[in-house]
Amino acid sequence: MNNELRELYQEVIIEHSRSPRHFHAMADCDCRAEGYNPLCGDRITVFIKKSGDHVKEISFQGSGCAISQASASLMTEAVIGQSMSTVGDLFSRFHSAMMTPLEQSISQYELGKLQVLAGVREFPMRIKCATLAWHALKNALSDEPHEVDSEDD
Ligand code: ZN
Repeated sequence: MNNELRELYQEVIIEHSRSPRHFHAMADCDCRAEGYNPLCGDRITVFIKKSGDHVKEISFQGSGCAISQASASLMTEAVIGQSMSTVGDLFSRFHSAMMTPLEQSISQYELGKLQVLAGVREFPMRIKCATLAWHALKNALSDEPHEVDSEDD
């Protein structure tokens, strides 16, 4: 990644962490799940309202490092209005991209705006910060609500 791109990506991450999108609780949500990343202390709660097979509304609340909050904010933008199968596909692609060694390209995952998190792979300790919100999302959408322990990375 060249320096110009790296700086641009960092700016987007900082901007999202300072002004997270869809950052609020949702009292009348259909499902929710909490995520905690003990490595960094990040906490995220994801709230979802469904409409048929689609994510009608999504919001989150939480605290933690800039990467965890920016990733959650970017996630809400990526999945709102999407079908469950698209959301599942996005989760798989994002997760696979984050697990790809830095020296390998992740362009095949077609991450769109989520691409700004590509640089997180330079810091393996921070990968769980980036994937935390997605694990919470996946758990919220699964049938049985439960805490995310983020141990499956
Ligand atoms: Zn973190």
